Amino acid sequence: MKRNEFIKKTGLSLLALGVFKWPAMAQAELESNWAGNLTYHRKELFAPKTRAELMDVVKKIKNGKALGSKHSFNTVADTTESHISLVYLNKVLELDEKNGLVWVESGIRYGTLGKWLDARGYAIHNLASLPHISVMGASSTATHGSGDKNGNLSTAVAAIELIKADGTAVLLDESNPKFYGAVVSLGALGVVYKVALKIQKRFDATQHVYEGLPMSALKDNFDKIFGAGYSVSLFTHWLDKNINQVWIKRRTDQNYEALPAKFFGAIPATTNLHPIKANSAVSCTDQMGVPGPWYERLPHFKMEFTPSNGAELQSEFFVPRKHAYQAIMAIESMHKEIYPLLFVTELRSIAADKFWMSTAYGQDMIAIHFTWKPIKDGVMKILPKIEAKLKPFGGKPHWGKISTIKKEDLAKTYPKWNDFKQLRKEMDPTNKWTNDFLRNLGLV
Ligand SMILES: Cc1cc2nc3c(=O)[nH]c(=O)nc-3n(C[C@H](O)[C@H](O)[C@H](O)COP(=O)(O)OP(=O)(O)OC[C@H]3O[C@@H](n4cnc5c(N)ncnc54)[C@H](O)[C@@H]3O)c2cc1C
Repeated sequence: MKRNEFIKKTGLSLLALGVFKWPAMAQAELESNWAGNLTYHRKELFAPKTRAELMDVVKKIKNGKALGSKHSFNTVADTTESHISLVYLNKVLELDEKNGLVWVESGIRYGTLGKWLDARGYAIHNLASLPHISVMGASSTATHGSGDKNGNLSTAVAAIELIKADGTAVLLDESNPKFYGAVVSLGALGVVYKVALKIQKRFDATQHVYEGLPMSALKDNFDKIFGAGYSVSLFTHWLDKNINQVWIKRRTDQNYEALPAKFFGAIPATTNLHPIKANSAVSCTDQMGVPGPWYERLPHFKMEFTPSNGAELQSEFFVPRKHAYQAIMAIESMHKEIYPLLFVTELRSIAADKFWMSTAYGQDMIAIHFTWKPIKDGVMKILPKIEAKLKPFGGKPHWGKISTIKKEDLAKTYPKWNDFKQLRKEMDPTNKWTNDFLRNLGLV
């Protein structure tokens, strides 16, 4: 396997493998994010293997950033100083059945954790489209799946142990108001060592896919369409006012009406599909109503394959659910410009939560996602136009994906923006965890 292919498949950096510190990097070993659209600007990389090593590194460095599984498309995880990779801090620490929690090290991937939990009879409430991402990297950016009643992945977090700038640890849980500013934190408050996630009884799920839903069906049936399963995703190429695929994920331990032969005009797929129809469905989790464990049905992509397309860029915008149809149609009006740059758009629903910097803070949201072809100039030109279309609806971007929204506009969409700013200052008085991403947003 070639180096780049290896890094992409495993998400591991060659630098991180067996290397505790690599102060002087050779040019050839510069490391990129998963998509390869960003080469990190760090001077050095640490990959601690124990809590004590992590605390030691944190104490020593002047400025830096925690690094999860490197799946963000923007500079949220970038640093010009020291990277602290969580790649080795990836173990399950304790199954606390009495309190319905599992304690894990923050770098564990959902795919690894899912299998472990399922074997012991447990599950977590939801997963993203891919299982390859780390628990704290995902929670820090409000990564989400779909489901009208499902909060994003951060809502499974019940407690975190944060290593602060001085190398000391602080435990934050739901009894502490600061907890609500510290989970979706963009890595701005410190490095999380361990996380407690809420667990529930394991469940099986099925996926049924329909093709060819007229977009107009969303106008009067939005709630029925998104309510047809535990988690529903719509995929569109924005051609002919058509939703190309409807993915309905249902738990087998919940009761639903039988799925009809025609779903608001869409017809059942006759084989497994990839959301980008030209791609092979071999990388996708099983469909056609075949039941399987939650951790192999809630994500669209399988752990052992490259998810999505591979060579791509991603953007995503969230609008309050009450504006969903108008916002979708506002984007539809740009379909001629969008289509040539796009692999596929996905529409998902996310339940409101209490995390200050969550994209779903206080409101049920609809996410409008774009998997772009890797045409950077074209994408950077179209993004301000998409953002302008969504501005009247309070549109805001995913914390880990590409956008050009100005800080003034963004701050307005977060009622707790100033509280988070204050908390950041209090938790990081020496600006150890600052980077250009936070500075450009005016959060420092
Ligand atoms: C193919 C693909 C599919 C995707 N699908 C989805 C999807 O379905 N839904 C969705 O919402 N997003 C999706 N994303 C985006 C992705 O989930 C986010 O970018 C997520 O943050 C990536 O997690 P990571 O572990 O790679 O974090 P990184 O990108 O490495 O880091 C993200 C942030 O987390 C911080 N961080 C990481 N670990 C810690 C820690 N231990 N303590 C403190 N801070 C920490 C970093 O400093 C940084 O600020 C997708 C991305 C890709 C590439």
